[in-house]
Amino acid sequence: MHNFNTLKEFLEEPRKVVIIPHTKPDADALGSALGLSWYLRKFEHTTTVLSPNDYPSFLHWMPGHEEVVVYDKKNPSPSEKIIEEADVIFCVDFSSLNRIEELGPLVRQNMSKKMIVMIDHHRGKEDFADYELWDIDAAAAAQLIYEFIALDKGTHRIDQRIAACLYAGIVTDTGSFKYPSVSSRTLRIAAELKDTGLDTSRLYNLIYDNNTEKRLRFLGHALGENLTFWPELNTGFFTVTQDDRERFNLQSGDTEGLVNYALSVNGIKIAALFKEKDERDGIKVSFRSIGDFSVADLSSEHFGGGGHKNAAGGRVDGITVDEAVARFKKVLEEKLK
Ligand code: 5GP
Ligand code: MN
Repeated sequence: MHNFNTLKEFLEEPRKVVIIPHTKPDADALGSALGLSWYLRKFEHTTTVLSPNDYPSFLHWMPGHEEVVVYDKKNPSPSEKIIEEADVIFCVDFSSLNRIEELGPLVRQNMSKKMIVMIDHHRGKEDFADYELWDIDAAAAAQLIYEFIALDKGTHRIDQRIAACLYAGIVTDTGSFKYPSVSSRTLRIAAELKDTGLDTSRLYNLIYDNNTEKRLRFLGHALGENLTFWPELNTGFFTVTQDDRERFNLQSGDTEGLVNYALSVNGIKIAALFKEKDERDGIKVSFRSIGDFSVADLSSEHFGGGGHKNAAGGRVDGITVDEAVARFKKVLEEKLK
């Protein structure tokens, strides 16, 4: 394992850099990747952000979005070539190679050939990087990108473009500075980013005020029809079926944030969202909690996933939504006994 100085020396020459966010990148993954990319470009490195798959249109405002290369299963060679030609691979907002779909094996093949850097805040780290900046207490990967820049003594080089990317990651991963992961350091970093002249109010609008009428109607439907509470388990959960998907023409990102509505009810400490068949078969599950209950453990033990103590996700194949819900109930009854 290298220390920061070894990496810094390596980056003293202009390098070909590829930066990979996790699958279905959210604002933190994409913002971290793009923020880092703009920073590294200040040193004459050539950078490419390579995403394992597409991401919701409400992230298209991010500076650099137009240049992001999205891995294409049907035509993987451009992505393979980018990795082949890279000197260094940055992995941001994930720390296990099964979080980047088909790019995982490609990175693995290059483990001894290229410099690999991992910057992340998720539990369940794998050893694949030559240099790691890994802190599960960091509120966002974007916060760690800032720390990386600080280690590099480069915070004075953070411009509005970088600040917008990193601020977006911090805002979204902290639920607008609401979650317990927010430290005074998080707020200080946010203040530093604001000091670049960043219009943070405009940023909120770009991230949050982008509903379509259809999406808002879907929210009404989901709150009315798809939300169940188990008060005795302090739990509430949503189910979204293939029917809902067709009826409301749901797109990537349309269920973002939905799970949190269950947590806004008094006494509810655990929330879940079960989504039937999104881009793949099977069921995508999202978990959230308030307090000590670790949904990361729940997800890794029973739903093939992981994440953070209070926000995690996973996926189960070969069972119905009802069966996934039944599994959830059984596990909760055992864990909360
Ligand atoms: P979300 O519910 O918004 O998809 O994800 C919540 C958190 O759990 C995020 O930090 C995300 O990276 C993580 N997460 C979501 N799905 C998975 C998964 O399938 N595996 C793992 N390890 N983490 C996940
Ligand atoms: Mn994150």
